[in-house]
Amino acid sequence: MTDPWQWADEIGPEKVVHLHDAAAGLRAVVAIDNTAAGPSIGGVRMAKDVSAEEAFRLARAMTFKNAAAGLPHGGGKSVVVGDPHMSDAEKETLIRAFAQAIRDLTGYIPGPDMGTDERCMAWIRDEIGRAVGLPPELGGIPLDEIGATGLGLAVSADVASRRLDLPLAGARVAIQGYGNVGRHAARFLAARGAVVVAVSDSGGVAIDAGGLALDSLDVLKREGRSVADLPGCGSTSSEAILDVACEIWIPAARPDVVTEENVDRLDTRLVLQGANIPFTPEAERILHTRGVLVVPDFIANAGGVICASVEYHGGDERQALQTIETKIAANVEAVLEKAQASGQMPRAAAVALARERVRKAAATRRWHA
Ligand code: NAD
Repeated sequence: MTDPWQWADEIGPEKVVHLHDAAAGLRAVVAIDNTAAGPSIGGVRMAKDVSAEEAFRLARAMTFKNAAAGLPHGGGKSVVVGDPHMSDAEKETLIRAFAQAIRDLTGYIPGPDMGTDERCMAWIRDEIGRAVGLPPELGGIPLDEIGATGLGLAVSADVASRRLDLPLAGARVAIQGYGNVGRHAARFLAARGAVVVAVSDSGGVAIDAGGLALDSLDVLKREGRSVADLPGCGSTSSEAILDVACEIWIPAARPDVVTEENVDRLDTRLVLQGANIPFTPEAERILHTRGVLVVPDFIANAGGVICASVEYHGGDERQALQTIETKIAANVEAVLEKAQASGQMPRAAAVALARERVRKAAATRRWHA
């Protein structure tokens, strides 16, 4: 068995709880990393192969993301062992059992993640009265529909492009992953005058140096087709997105897509990380030495959790969009300023900023080191 203390440091984890209910077929782990600023918020991930280590690492990422965004919440995460494609009835039984098992873990507010959705959050809310990412009829703000994370990426572009002296009007944008995050990032950036020259999905890539027709791409996606089906622009090689010359490159698909092996293929000035941990640390360092500005994931893609926090505190869609704009603009500014002043990479500056906020929040609490 791995050493249960190997991850512990001055931040957390506060609690890592294994849940087991043989009758309901429930096996799950909840990691509450830190609650200094308030109850932890983090998604419920359902997959066949999840581990306590994954729960903890994701919970720590949420501590940093929530602290960096200045939310009154710490970081948590849970993983539920199960096939996300099980029948609706089976999923409801499992999720309701999970909800009952976390009833007393009041320092953890669950939200949707891979393998769970707003219906699952509605079942949890029904059981124990707390969850975010709810359906609209329960006061939820549909963050993927309004493009919460995509808006945050565009706001990050506003701030970062000023620092680079890179006008957004006419800037060429390439986006890996044309899903909830990528699609809205494209829309918000195009509204600022940027030209989306390439987008990819798991089926391929669409490239047009003159600018892609976003409406046509959206129609294709609604029909369940690939961006590669865009007439005259498509090809089945998803990887080709790495070679597109552009000013702004946005990973919005999967982790670890850019490594030291392929980082040299990127020809860009600014990277806005929409996906979580899309680059290896070494790839990020290489880009830094090349003078490419990388706005790290937990700063640039915090729009979703900011939206969830606004929902939890009773706000509406308009307040969510405003809060995303204000908080992400301030955070990107603070991180890039700190990075420049200290000579650190933006990620190191962002982690230092987040740690400092957690430390200050902890100092206001009765029990702190
Ligand atoms: P999504 O499933 O809606 O979209 C993912 C897209 O990536 C799809 O178009 C898929 O076809 C594409 N894709 C998968 N593999 C690919 C590959 N090898 N090459 C190119 N494209 C590929 O997911 P999403 O909600 O847009 O999330 C995207 C990423 O952003 C995930 O890593 C997620 O964890 C992260 N994220 C999402 C949010 C949010 O608000 N949805 C918030 C923060 C972080």
